[in-house]
Amino acid sequence: AKEIGESNFQFFSQEMNRASIERLQIESSLRLALLRKEFHLVYQPQVDLATGRITGMEALVRWRHPELGMVSPARFIPVAEDTGHIIEIGQWVLREACRQTRHWHDRGFIGLQVAVNVSARQFRQDDFAGQVRQVLEETGLAPECLELELTESMIMQRPERVVAVMDELRAVGVKFSIDDFGTGYSSLSQLKRFPIDKLKIDQSFTRDIGSDANGSAITCAIIALGRSLRLRVVAEGVETAEQQCFLIENGCHSMQGYLFSRPVEAGDFHSLLLLQTLP
Ligand code: C2E
Ligand code: CA
Ligand code: CA
Ligand code: CA
Repeated sequence: AKEIGESNFQFFSQEMNRASIERLQIESSLRLALLRKEFHLVYQPQVDLATGRITGMEALVRWRHPELGMVSPARFIPVAEDTGHIIEIGQWVLREACRQTRHWHDRGFIGLQVAVNVSARQFRQDDFAGQVRQVLEETGLAPECLELELTESMIMQRPERVVAVMDELRAVGVKFSIDDFGTGYSSLSQLKRFPIDKLKIDQSFTRDIGSDANGSAITCAIIALGRSLRLRVVAEGVETAEQQCFLIENGCHSMQGYLFSRPVEAGDFHSLLLLQTLP
């Protein structure tokens, strides 16, 4: 038993070591990643469930590290939050997403909506609203076509201040959605005070549609909740036709997920747009 315990410990500490080395590596190279142009964006379509058409897309950041290869945002965004690099990265993501969307508008895809993830630290900067307005001016993107994704936990911290920032941006036309909805335990009465346009049902619920009665029930309840508040409801992580059917039957407005498309490079997203203009 002692031997097993020791080797387990050794294994554990080796794993820890590997994880902390990797974290250090990520931390130290984040600083230069922007300068070295190692980030790019991919786009995942959001599709209207009634018409089957792409109405917009979520911009997701990718990092091609010279030694580590592709580093998932799930791994480096939390580190960038800790080090503060998220502020610069988030600014770059916002500008690039708006620039690209404006470009697609100019190519004839008018009204295409882009959703951009905003991290807590980025949103809490003193002049966040001013920064967003400046990016909109610089890129010439119609503010109505920009949607910022916030999480429940983010908005529940200092809600009065959050509402003020949201109001300032909504005054120029920017929209807001709640990302990963259902994972943060916010109540209806809390939600009502925020000027939100859209709920994004977390993929953990979508995944359980059909296979798990609770998953279906929760998804159904979120759709009903969203509709009762006159919000748009988007399901994330839709992977099967069965899930899509369930969402249509229960009044969900749109979907995002591998069933329609994985997040793709700008060039490939453009091809998807061109495909749907064909008769
Ligand atoms: P998220 O905002 O919830 O983004 C959705 C994630 O689910 C994406 O992972 C996407 O690729 C993945 N996904 C989409 N459809 C499906 C599906 O049908 N099945 C499954 N299993 N997964 C699907 P990704 O791109 O790795 O991003 C992970 C997280 O990293 C994001 O979660 C978001 O929280 C964060 N993130 C990504 N880009 C940015 C960014 O530019 N800024 C900030 N602050 N966070 C970002
Ligand atoms: Ca998101
Ligand atoms: Ca999400
Ligand atoms: Ca998520």
